Amino acid sequence: MKIAVCPGSFDPITKGHVDIIRRAAALFDEVIVVVMINYYKSSGCFDAEERSRLIKRSVEDIPNVKTDVYGGLLADYVKKVNACAVVKGLRAMSDFEYEFQQALTNKKINPDFETVFLPADGDHMFLSSSLVKQVCEFGGDVTDFLPPQICEDVIKKIKGRNLSK
Ligand code: ADP
Repeated sequence: MKIAVCPGSFDPITKGHVDIIRRAAALFDEVIVVVMINYYKSSGCFDAEERSRLIKRSVEDIPNVKTDVYGGLLADYVKKVNACAVVKGLRAMSDFEYEFQQALTNKKINPDFETVFLPADGDHMFLSSSLVKQVCEFGGDVTDFLPPQICEDVIKKIKGRNLSK
């Protein structure tokens, strides 16, 4: 069985993430979406368990997707769950340098898995969790950016909250 891991901060999950997860699920037997604690951003709006619950609701229609939370090295997690690949979405050149560096570092730590990059869908190329939070905080419409199953709850949590404090 070929297992892939989709790691990220998912604070919160967006339609861009869901698109990558759905495409990964079509390529592998099982996909584990893992919320990485202390992944490259220090603090978040949603705690790790909340993020994981939001992911679960957003991908409930994809049968071969599981969710998890992990607070260690990605390379160790991949070994723990016996995955053969990590799947990452690439939005533009700006993602490329960081993601390439991560992929090569992971290869050094654990040569037994590949990093697979999927190009972001044209409609989601600009989309990031931080953008959603910024727009939502000040009452902008984010319904096009978020999975419909979680949209209302995410807006309720973020709207009117001063996240830049
Ligand atoms: P963000 O930058 O939105 O906080 P994460 O750190 O959670 O995203 O990213 C997890 C993975 O999802 C990364 O590989 C990232 O490149 C990818 N990703 C994030 N947003 C999108 C998008 N809109 N389209 C495709 N891939 C994305």
